[in-house]
Amino acid sequence: MSQSQPFIAIVGGGVAGLTTALCLARVGLASTIFERANELSEVGAGLQLSPNALSVMDRLGLLPALKAVGVAADRVVLKRGSSGRTIAAVPVHAGDGTPYLSLHRADLQAVLLDAVLREPKISLRLGAEIAALGPGEHAVELGLANGGETVLADFVIAADGVRSAIVRQMGLAPATPTGTTAWRTTIEDDGETEDDGETPPGAGDGIRAWLGARRHAVAYPIRAGRAVNLVMITRSDDDPGAAHRLIAGFSRWDAQLVGLIGRAPAPTPWPLFAAPGSRPFTLGNGRILLVGDAAHAMAPYAAQGAGMAIEDAAVLAEAIVRTNEPRAAAGRYEAARRPRIDAVRKRVGFHRFVYHLPAPFSLGRDMALALRPHDALRADLAWLYDWRAPALAADRPHADDVGVPR
Ligand SMILES: Cc1cc2nc3c(=O)[nH]c(=O)nc-3n(C[C@H](O)[C@H](O)[C@H](O)COP(=O)(O)OP(=O)(O)OC[C@H]3O[C@@H](n4cnc5c(N)ncnc54)[C@H](O)[C@@H]3O)c2cc1C
Repeated sequence: MSQSQPFIAIVGGGVAGLTTALCLARVGLASTIFERANELSEVGAGLQLSPNALSVMDRLGLLPALKAVGVAADRVVLKRGSSGRTIAAVPVHAGDGTPYLSLHRADLQAVLLDAVLREPKISLRLGAEIAALGPGEHAVELGLANGGETVLADFVIAADGVRSAIVRQMGLAPATPTGTTAWRTTIEDDGETEDDGETPPGAGDGIRAWLGARRHAVAYPIRAGRAVNLVMITRSDDDPGAAHRLIAGFSRWDAQLVGLIGRAPAPTPWPLFAAPGSRPFTLGNGRILLVGDAAHAMAPYAAQGAGMAIEDAAVLAEAIVRTNEPRAAAGRYEAARRPRIDAVRKRVGFHRFVYHLPAPFSLGRDMALALRPHDALRADLAWLYDWRAPALAADRPHADDVGVPR
């Protein structure tokens, strides 16, 4: 970058925004996060983070804190929804020891926020909604919603989520419904199950996905094993807002899943949206860069939305610090991220198709998966899980390894 420090404005303080600020600080660049909420709070739901994303957290020195609040998995078990019979156990561990974690979103956010508040290169402005955007040749003007304040930024990082105001301001097509809804709930430790060694029931069973025609369910431990996150995904038209219809749809499934649903508080419906694949990740002469859901919101079938946001953050920081001109930084970022995001999107579509197959096609799926050796199942995902973060070092003159799969 040029000798003087650029003013970098990050719009949005979610996973994407907080991680981007931390990665920028790591390479020596200061930033200001503008977050519209008055305080950062996360909905009570879980998240899986695979080794590719956690390699960024490792670079940031946050892996020990995340391991302390998460639960490490070495496989994801795919089950037949109706019977609970295991179809396959897909290995997710990494050869270099980087973990695959399931954790509570609030725990991830707390770890990120704590690091942000300790970092002198980051200013966090809460209650600061960006309502206007004026891209120019030499700077981008941002207008805040309250009080008419404006700021001039060299770079604007749009990390403002699936309903991004920046995307709207730039006249890009919005994210559209995928036609599916995620129903989320969390089974907390109620303190009554300690004696039987199950706290709460199912917390020790790892990450499980029950597959069935047009719907599936996923459960995994969070809160260091003190709670279980349960997500049920159905077609949106199957469940016009009624939780009892949803539950009826799973009532003849595996007893283990039915037991979890029975213990869980009423699930919250969460219609799933996806950003158009054609949306550019960089705009405004390279001065506006999109990260996370603002760039590429995707349905959670591959559990990679936040993972991709975290990868974006590291690649973006490297791209800005290694170039001395916004267009070059933008070109570098887009070139590194576009093929990877396209590949992840393809995988999301593949999972959606395969997970929701009806009989008799599901029998063929089960047989094919059961016959595939464990090593081959892991190798199928090497391109995804074995990506490793760029060095995030402030002092390297050149970096040709920005976000390259190993
Ligand atoms: C059911 C479900 C399960 C999922 N499971 C996984 C999983 O297992 N693994 C995984 O990796 N991903 C998963 N995801 C995806 C993941 O949750 C998202 O990709 C990720 O949270 C996106 O983060 P973000 O920071 O881009 O956006 P957000 O978290 O939406 O953050 C955007 C932030 O911007 C702020 N903001 C918005 N507009 C403005 C404005 N105008 N001015 C200032 N601030 C603004 C918002 O207040 C918010 O804080 C899942 C998603 C769903 C729905």
